[in-house]
Formats: sequence, structure tokens, C-alpha cells
Amino acid sequence: MSQKQFTPSLLISRPSVGHHHLIVGPNNLAISRCMKSIEVGALPILISPFTPENMIAGVKFIQKDFEECDLVTWGTEKNSGYVDLVFFTGDHTSQLAQDISSACHRHRIPINVVDSPSLSSFTLLSSHHDGPLQFGISTSRIGRPLANRIKSEIVSRIPPRLGNACSLLAYFREHLTAEEKRSRLNHISEFWPLNKICSLTVYDIEGLLQDYTLLPLSKQATRVENPGRISLVGSGPGDPKLLTVAALEAINSADVVLADKLVPSSILDLVPRRSTVHIARKFPGNTANAQQELLVLGLTAVKEGKNVIRLKQGDPYIFGRGGEEMSFFEDNGFKPIVIPGITSALSAGIFSVIPLTIRGAADQVLIATGTGENGSVPQAPEYIISRTTVFLMALHRLEILVANLITNGWPQDLACAVVERASCRDQRIVRTRLQDVVGAMKVLGNRPPGLLIVGRACEVLRKCQAKWVVEEGFDGFPIVDSPYETDDENYRNSEFIEEEKQPSQLLQTTGAVVV
Ligand code: SAH
Repeated sequence: MSQKQFTPSLLISRPSVGHHHLIVGPNNLAISRCMKSIEVGALPILISPFTPENMIAGVKFIQKDFEECDLVTWGTEKNSGYVDLVFFTGDHTSQLAQDISSACHRHRIPINVVDSPSLSSFTLLSSHHDGPLQFGISTSRIGRPLANRIKSEIVSRIPPRLGNACSLLAYFREHLTAEEKRSRLNHISEFWPLNKICSLTVYDIEGLLQDYTLLPLSKQATRVENPGRISLVGSGPGDPKLLTVAALEAINSADVVLADKLVPSSILDLVPRRSTVHIARKFPGNTANAQQELLVLGLTAVKEGKNVIRLKQGDPYIFGRGGEEMSFFEDNGFKPIVIPGITSALSAGIFSVIPLTIRGAADQVLIATGTGENGSVPQAPEYIISRTTVFLMALHRLEILVANLITNGWPQDLACAVVERASCRDQRIVRTRLQDVVGAMKVLGNRPPGLLIVGRACEVLRKCQAKWVVEEGFDGFPIVDSPYETDDENYRNSEFIEEEKQPSQLLQTTGAVVV
């Protein structure tokens, strides 16, 4: 089969503020075209004999059948009534589609007929908009799904806030008159890594335009090749095997590691010897200071161009101050990369054989804290019989917490479990009931970090026949050698399985691997 010679279309970008777009069609697609026109500052004029169901503000609606004279009536005076663009969103096989298309061609008005390239004089691109940054993809009639997919692929590869960076650079470009400074700005646009450009603030650019000496290119390259970077990395509940691949890569490439006190030594052991490690000096009464100290250390190192990771127990955004750290670094001009971790709140159930949701006992989970702001007692959550509640930071104030729950209607004989050092070799589980948990922990003592799981789910797979039962230790995950060869051929086939998602075909084409 010979391929047809392909002639590309001219891709243009058309400022449309104040333009008059004529949209002909009764359906929801017509409304979404109207929305697009409004988005680019044009006035949509919708012509249809029927009132659309989801009419929106900003549309001029004319209830009638389309006539050729509409093309030269509804435009601006400046254009002698000619409209600027026409969209037909009805049935492209209809006589009306043919007629509108020929009328537009006669009047030289650009027209788009949905699903009909042959009746259209222009097509719409699958486009991405981020402030002043816009781009569109055309696959020249192969179709939207592929164009959309290529667009998403590109969007996922460009750094976030690139549109913002474009606005910032445009602002400076507009206001700079000195030729030398303009060429410095061009140099930044042309050669700096995009993610470095995205992290620039107004002050950075002002500083750069003052101080930037025109170094030979090679030297400038080394100056910008290693921009500082900060990542907030979740380290999981404890066992190093529960680190994500992304977290491990971050640890391996770090210059500076700022770790929470809770991160166990088996994970800190993975930090390369060349990296500097600081551990938060958090102890009662010094938490805020220690936190601030760590953030300032991090910022200084990032500014020096270092690759800094803030290693946090569990997941950074679950009671880990990840949100606050994010805004601290953003406010200082560095947008952190955040790498999720397995939170202790959700994984402690696995290690204590408590399915947090299970049919017949629990259909919802609540993650709560046992310690309120500045050490206060937090408000007791409402008791819901089908809910499992996981209290973090609760064990040092267990007595007050449990008393508060019982006062607020939680049953005294409700099953609960204390899970300490989940996934670590010295893990301990205490299964009991609300009325006995305080007594049990007084006898047994604490082994931090630990949390409290409360709810009927606690006794579904493991019953507690005594006042309390203690289970010690976690043996780690077994080392299992793969029975399969990991050659290229197998990898290729497994990718194919993912793509095709057709089991019958899959068995035929990849039988050797599946069996
Ligand atoms: N970001 C963390 C939670 C930090 S708050 C996460 O997502 O897991 C600190 C609390 O987490 C501790 O007081 C304790 O309640 C809980 N915790 C952390 N690691 C734990 C572990 N391995 N076992 C049990 N509880 C743990």
C-alpha cells in the first residue's frame, strides 16, 4: 500500500478579541463552541430554531433557521456585517451542512463543519492553554484521540508553571529598553533549563539582570546545569522495601538529606556516604524551632545549588507538615517536587491484620490526630458504627483521648488495637477494647511511633479473647527470586499486554510469557 503524498496545513494563531463567531447547530457541541469563543474574547452568535438546554451567559441567541444572509448580517459594522468565523455543529451529512459550507466558501468566510474536513476550510487543534503559553496539535485528519494523547504527553513533560514563567519574561521584555539587558533575557530564555526558568521570581530576574556578567557560554552552562532542587520525600512506615522507586532515586541522588526524627535508621543507612544528613532536633517544646531550623538549612543548601531532600516518615501530606513546607519553599522561589510515601495510617492495618474496610464491619475510614494544635485535646469525631478510625500522634495522651471518645458516645467495648513501629523488626501490636487500652499501655509502656486503630474491623480477622493480647515483631518481606528471565523480549511483551488489554489476543500472542 503506497502512502499518499502529505502536504502540511498552515498552522496559525488568530487573536479573536471582538470577533463575531457564527455558530449554527442545536446541540451541546454548539454550546461548547460558544464557550471557546467567549474564552478567546469573541462574541458567539448562536443560530438555531430550538432553544438549547444548557444556554450560557455571553451568547447572542437567535431563534430561527439559518439563511445565507446571516453570514453577512451578524458581523461588526467595521466588517460590513460579515462574520469572522462560522462553526456548524449539526449533522455533517445533511443538505444544510453542504449549503452552509458552499455559502461560506463563496463569501470567503472560514468555516468548520464538525467531523467533515472536506466541508471545512479550517480545523481546530487539540490545544493546551496556560496563560500566554498555548500550543496546538494536529495529526492531519488521523483524529482527535491521538492528537489529545500527544498533547497530554507533551503537557506531562513540560514543567508546571511554564505559562507563569512566560508571563514573567514577557513583562521584563516589555519594560526593558537597554539592549544589553534584553539580550541577557533572551539568553535565559534560550539556554536555561525550563524547570529553572519556572522557579524564577521577579526578584531573581531583577538580580540576574543586574549581576549577570556575560561569561563565555561554557561557563554559563555549568552555572545553570546544577540548579538547586528541593524534594519532599515520603519514606513510608519504616521497612526500606516500602520506599517507592522515586523515593529511592531521590535518596540516591541527594546532596543534603534533612530527615525527620521518626525516619528509622534502616532507611537512613541507604543515604550515600557523600551526602550530608541532618536529623530534626524535635523534642517536646522545641518542635517549632527544630522545624524552622531544618527549613532554613534546606533553603540555604538549595540556594547553593544543592539537591536537597526533606525525608519524611510515611506520606509528606498526612500530618507531616508537608503542606507548610511546600508553601515555605514556594514563597522563597523554589517549587518542591513531592514524592508520596505509604502512610502509616493506611498501612498499619496491613501489618496488624486489620482490613480498614471490610464488608459487614466497615465501609469508611477516618484518619485523625490524637493531639490538637499546641497540645490541645482535639474534638472527638462522631461515632459511626461502620467506620474504622485511625488516630495518629495519640499514644502519649491516650487516657484523655479515650475518655473523650467514651464521653462522646463511643462504646466502651469497641474493639481497638495499638500498632507500634509498624513494618519494623520490633513492631508490636496490642489488641484490646477501648475500656482496657489505657490500662494495657500503662502496663506495657510505649514503643513509639505508634497509632491507635478503633472500630469493628479490628476484630474481624483476629479476635481478642483476653483483656488484651500482645503480638511482637515483623519478619520483613521475603526475598523472592523471579522464576522468569528478565530479557528484553519479555519486557516488550508485557508492555504489549498493557497496551492491548484484550485477554484472548494476549494469550495467543504472548503465551510463552503468560504460562
Ligand atoms: N506522615 C506520617 C505521619 C506523621 S505524624 C505518615 O504518613 O505516616 C507521626 C505519627 O505517625 C506518629 O505519632 C504515629 O502515630 C504515626 N506513625 C508513623 N510511623 C509509624 C509506624 N511505623 N507505626 C505506627 N505509627 C506510625
